[in-house]
Amino acid sequence: MRQVTCDVIVVGAGPAGSAAAILLAEYGHSVLLLDKAAFPRPKICGEYLSPEASRILDRLGVLKTVDAAAVPLRGMRITVPDGTVLAGRYPTEGPYRGYRDHALAISRLGLDQILVERVKALPVDVRERHRVEDLLVEGDRVVGVRAVGPDGVALDVRSPLVVGADGRQSLVARRLDLMEAHPLRRMALIAYVEGVDDFGDSGEIYVDPPDYAILNPVAAGVVSLSLVVPLAHAAPFSGRLETFFHARLKQLDRLRPRIAAMRPLGPVMALGPLAYRVRPPRHAGVLLVGDAAGFYDPFTGEGIYTALRSAELAAEIAHGALARGNCSQAALAPYWRARRDAFRDKERVTRILQAVIARRWLANLVARRLARRPDLLSLLMGVIGDFIPPRALLSPRLLLGRR
Ligand SMILES: Cc1cc2nc3c(=O)[nH]c(=O)nc-3n(C[C@H](O)[C@H](O)[C@H](O)COP(=O)(O)OP(=O)(O)OC[C@H]3O[C@@H](n4cnc5c(N)ncnc54)[C@H](O)[C@@H]3O)c2cc1C
Repeated sequence: MRQVTCDVIVVGAGPAGSAAAILLAEYGHSVLLLDKAAFPRPKICGEYLSPEASRILDRLGVLKTVDAAAVPLRGMRITVPDGTVLAGRYPTEGPYRGYRDHALAISRLGLDQILVERVKALPVDVRERHRVEDLLVEGDRVVGVRAVGPDGVALDVRSPLVVGADGRQSLVARRLDLMEAHPLRRMALIAYVEGVDDFGDSGEIYVDPPDYAILNPVAAGVVSLSLVVPLAHAAPFSGRLETFFHARLKQLDRLRPRIAAMRPLGPVMALGPLAYRVRPPRHAGVLLVGDAAGFYDPFTGEGIYTALRSAELAAEIAHGALARGNCSQAALAPYWRARRDAFRDKERVTRILQAVIARRWLANLVARRLARRPDLLSLLMGVIGDFIPPRALLSPRLLLGRR
């Protein structure tokens, strides 16, 4: 058994954990970053990065490197069952401007590797192939973690603060009994394909309740194709998900001609259920960021932005708490309030959109209305892109249709 101490342990080196490690190291804290994987490592994801994520990537010092590996997307073309096509563009004029006028399509192998390389350029102790197997808990306080490295030897690390950034199966959240199932029961099937061209500068979404599919051109000639379906529809096909994926895609009438010449570039990856909730911890000495703090649905593509933004919020509160030598639950509580304020309104919009895309008639109706209101569509794109506050959609002027 080996023993180490530091100011902060970050569990998980995905976007949330790498961002937290970078920011906490820049604040001057000694950080240990542990990940069970060796990077680059695969991650099931639609690989769309909302425009506002670029602001945080710039703050983290990686935007230029990410730009070199990414495809810019100036909007999304959304097709609904009656054939209405919404050519949504991120707004470039008006009162709200994004940090960028475009989103990015980028493989997670590339993005996550770039972030980990940035952490390694800082004085951070980064340990890949180190699985955290338990939290060290004393009374109502988390005081560290027990990890196991590639040599199979246990490593106990003690610190005043543990940041759980260990994704959707978070050991940190499960160990503290914080995870709850969500009533939205969906599954995602994702594959890289070729032979689907002519995207212009947009990604594409095909809504066909109860399913939807997203085409994201992540590199020259390579498209990430995600299909999201009710979990109950996919469950009988476990073991035959590849067959289910291709058969189900053919049932999406508006998508079928678009992918007629498609050829798979790799296996189908599947994940479900997608949504779950996580309660804030009652223990001192612990914060949760990114997917470790909960996940809803990938339709509006904010997961990576939320991971980065939650790391930014957590690092700020953690820095103050560490500087004061007080990582009590009360000292860390402002993080949970900041999270709620940052994400609550967008979550409401996301839930409303989920209700719309779950019903054929409603998806058609809303799409036809939005097709007649480019100003509203443009605002909605900015909200989805995380740079227009959702309350802008409630402006009486806008709702009354006055330009
Ligand atoms: C089907 C699907 C499609 C999506 N599409 C998009 C999209 O297009 N755009 C978008 O913005 N978001 C999307 N998301 C969401 C996005 O993938 C996540 O929100 C994002 O990856 C969260 O980052 P994270 O750092 O919190 O977690 P992760 O990226 O999952 O990183 C967690 C890290 O923790 C490590 N880890 C886990 N357990 C341990 C342990 N016990 N010990 C040590 N290390 C551990 C893992 O190896 C991993 O590296 C999608 C999600 C799904 C499910």
